[in-house]
Order: sequence, then C-alpha cells, then structure tokens
Amino acid sequence: MIVLSDRDVRSLLPMTDAIEIVEKAMIAVSAGAANLPLRSVVEVGEPNRMGVMPGAFLPGNGQVEACFGVKLVSLFPGNPDAGYSSHQGAIVLFEPEHGSAIAMMNAGLLTAIRTAAASAVATRALARPDCGTLAMIGAGEQAEHHLGAMLCVRPSLREVRVAGRRREKAEAFASHAAERHPGLAIRVFDNVRSAVEGADLVCTVTSSAEPILMGEWVAPGTHLNVVGASIPSKREIDEEMVARSRLYVDYRPSTFTQAGEVMRAIESGRIGPEHVQAEIGEVLSGKSAGRETAGEITLYRSLGIAAQDLACATHCVHEAKTRGLGVEASLD
Ligand code: NDP
Repeated sequence: MIVLSDRDVRSLLPMTDAIEIVEKAMIAVSAGAANLPLRSVVEVGEPNRMGVMPGAFLPGNGQVEACFGVKLVSLFPGNPDAGYSSHQGAIVLFEPEHGSAIAMMNAGLLTAIRTAAASAVATRALARPDCGTLAMIGAGEQAEHHLGAMLCVRPSLREVRVAGRRREKAEAFASHAAERHPGLAIRVFDNVRSAVEGADLVCTVTSSAEPILMGEWVAPGTHLNVVGASIPSKREIDEEMVARSRLYVDYRPSTFTQAGEVMRAIESGRIGPEHVQAEIGEVLSGKSAGRETAGEITLYRSLGIAAQDLACATHCVHEAKTRGLGVEASLD
C-alpha cells in the first residue's frame, strides 16, 4: 500500500489535471460505469458528522480505469477557527483484480480540489464564455479552491466579489487571493445581495443551514455553482432561485435524497422532478442540452460523489509511483 499525505496530494493533483479527471469521471458516471451507493452520514456529536462514501468504477466499463474504494470524511464545522480544515479523513483505494487495498491518502485536500474541479467542469459546460465578474459567497477552504478552478475555465474573469459571514474572514480571503492573482480586482461585500447583483458567475460555498441567496437577486444569464449544503436539512438558496434556473446536477439519486433546495421545492409543488434538466455528465457526453440562450440562468447543484474521489485518487497513485512520492506500507 502507498500512503499519501496532504502535501503529496497537493503536488500530485494540480487543479488543471483535476478538472480533466473529474470531467471524464462525470461522463462515465452518467453512462452507467459506476456503482455509487448513497453516502451515509454518522452523527458523531453535534454539530459534527462523519460521511462514508463508497463507490466503484466497474471492470470492463469502457470509460475509465476500474477501481473501488471508500472515502471516510469527518465534517467539523468549527475546525477552521482552530486552524484545521473542516474536512478530515482518508480515502482507501482498492484494485479490481484481487481486491487488495493499494493506497490510502489524505481526504481533506482531495475533497476540496475535486469539488472545485467539478464546479469548473460545470462552469465550462454551462456558463457564458465571456464571464467577467465572479461572486464568491463564502470565504473558506472551498472558496479558495473554487477561485482557482473558476480562473482555469473562465480566464476572462476580471472582478471577484466576496461575501461571507464575518467581514474579517472575507477580507483575509480577499487579501490572500489578491496576492495569488494579482491581475484581479477583488472586493469584499457586506451582503450577499449586492455581491451577486449583476455578477456573471456565482459560487455558493458556505456552511449556512438557511438560504443566503434569493432568486430575485440574480441577473439573467448568470451561471451558479451551488455547493455548500450537503445534507437535506440545509439549503443555501431559496425556492425562487431553484425555480428560476435551468437546473443541472451531479448525480440524480443523490439530488433527490440529499439536495435540500431541490427536495423542498419539489415537496412544496414549486417544481416537479423534471425540472432537473440533466446530470452534468449527460451534457458533457452530448446526450442532453446545456445552456440554450445567453439570457437563461443555469445552476449546477453539487453534492459531491465518490466517483470524483476515486478518479482523483487513482490519478494520485499513478503520479506518485512515477515521481517516487508517498510512503510504502504493508498490510500483510
Ligand atoms: P469552511 O468552514 O472553510 O468555510 C465556510 C464558509 O461559509 C466561511 O467563509 C463562513 O463564513 C461561510 N458562512 C457560513 N455561514 C454563512 C452565512 N450564513 N452567510 C455567508 N457565509 C457564511 O468550509 P468549506 O469551505 O470547507 O466548505 C463549505 C461548505 O461546502 C460546507 O458546508 C461543506 O459541507 C460543503 N462541501 C460540499 C462539497 C460538495 O461536493 N458539494 C464537498 C465539500 C464540502 P465565516 O468564516 O465568517 O463563518
């Protein structure tokens, strides 16, 4: 078994590679190449949780390399204030010939990178090509990786607006981002409404349990990546936002059981299940249409799936072997 640290993953999985890996994975998932049982959530003492995310790319699927494995990830929302990532854990990857566990790696950073990469894949497919202004709602770890990911697929971005909960955190994010991306105009906003008004691209990457973004605030033609709420009781956007948009998802089975915004809008009768236009993999393969007019609002509701983790983990293992990174350990 090879063991890869946070530092190894950072070096082995640059965002540009992650975007291409996740794109292939999403196409494969929507073509039926993966077996993805729904994520289980284990309460470990409020407000903390552990997610268990198993999955497999099946042998002979004709799309991506077969493998299987599981991500064990804890979500401790108070961690960032103590200097830790809110996501901690490990991915264990197995090979399909004899079923051996061949790798274990840090899951926190890999999760942040693959989630931002998935939003980039959706943005590349659905957003208008000429996006100039990005509104980043949330200023934590996901925000940092999403900014890099958005710039990879929309180099036309010139202005970034940041709105979080505590202004000092948003300011710290903005000053760090300005150092890393000197060509960008980065401004901190005191409220979400003024940050999103007139923006071409919006990422919601907050840990909020209640909607922080209302549909009436968003301009025609905007693309949104709605990423932050990962359990059914949480929502980042209101029903109006869901109903006004052309809605795309990562994986239908998890959307209808875990995406609070979509579930609530269906329960209230505001939309029907057919409001979900397609999985992003269906758009990428050409099976379903993406954006059809410059004026429509497109929305990618991300929940995150184990297939993204497995595909990125497989890439890390190959690269680590080529470059001699990681530590060998034996389970025999
Ligand atoms: P962090 O804790 O690092 O950042 C969360 C950010 O949300 C902070 O900037 C926080 O502001 C902000 N925030 C919280 N409440 C509000 C609010 N009411 N209004 C505005 N901003 C608010 O978390 P991460 O960046 O690691 O993760 C963000 C979310 O993404 C989490 O909920 C996580 O579960 C989810 N996630 C989703 C994934 C997917 O695949 N879809 C994968 C991984 C994570 P402040 O610091 O001021 O409190």
